[in-house]
Amino acid sequence: MLKLLRHLMLRPSFRRAPPPPLGYVGGTIDRASEHRTDDAFLAGAALDPAARSYVVAGEMIVLHRVDAGYDALFDLDRAAGIGVARERAFLGLEGRAPRFATLIDAVTTETQATYPDVFVSDLRSIAMQGLVPPGQLAGLATAKALMHWHATHRFCSACGTPTRLGLAGWKRDCPSCQAEHFPRTDPVVIMLVTRGERCLLCRQARFPPGMWSCLAGFVEPGETFEDAVRRETREEAGVAVGRVRYLASQPWPFPMSVMVGCIAEGLSELLTVDTSELLGARWVARRDAALMLSRSHPDQSFCPPPTALAHHLIRAFVEGRRL
Ligand SMILES: [Zn+2]
Repeated sequence: MLKLLRHLMLRPSFRRAPPPPLGYVGGTIDRASEHRTDDAFLAGAALDPAARSYVVAGEMIVLHRVDAGYDALFDLDRAAGIGVARERAFLGLEGRAPRFATLIDAVTTETQATYPDVFVSDLRSIAMQGLVPPGQLAGLATAKALMHWHATHRFCSACGTPTRLGLAGWKRDCPSCQAEHFPRTDPVVIMLVTRGERCLLCRQARFPPGMWSCLAGFVEPGETFEDAVRRETREEAGVAVGRVRYLASQPWPFPMSVMVGCIAEGLSELLTVDTSELLGARWVARRDAALMLSRSHPDQSFCPPPTALAHHLIRAFVEGRRL
């Protein structure tokens, strides 16, 4: 009875609140891929006064200050003037307004002097601090992943010849061997392993002090997502996994992945932690996971913020959602 009461007391605050938004999703750009081969449309779109571009400088994102905070969209001329423009891709239409992504080399000190309102940051920080509206975060995720691919695929992997941008920025063509290269998205499984009233959380070396999250790893060739969940959990924590259920996915432009979020059933409890991958792993009771999610755990340990898919996996467990 006491257990049930405690259980019910813990849940209401999560039950009543709508789920907070996941980062990098919910964009309103219609990719309008039918226009990618329409040169006349693309030329007109670039001249449209409503056209705007996200600007990516290597691994960094360029913003400009506006009254209410920051804006990630630039006029096309200005986008190309911020640094040496290497590539430009047509992302689609937002309403009727064309949206592009521009890849530049870097923002120089001269540019910063010319445009003192220009601000450069990494995408994780922009997301964590909520510097831009959620819709722009989704656009930035697409722009960053696509521009990273262009920046790292300048040469044909078949014959070594420099490649050229094609399909309005959605492929690269080799003028020598005619090979076509398309943007890659690397799947990563991220899983909350549960066993009864407990879930398995881990700490990686790159986590801030006190943060615990889900296990995760790249899907290997020849694997299903379920296979990858089982292999990674066995390799990293020594735990066997039975049933695996999909919950949600999230674009993860670091540099160009998609996170596949799963809830997995642990079949064993003994942990054998791979210390080359993890600082530690532990089974966490549901009530402790709830306190870690709300950042009110007495030992100061906490879970990732709502922008991360891990938060939503742990939240689904805390809320007792059946999958
Ligand atoms: Zn080639």
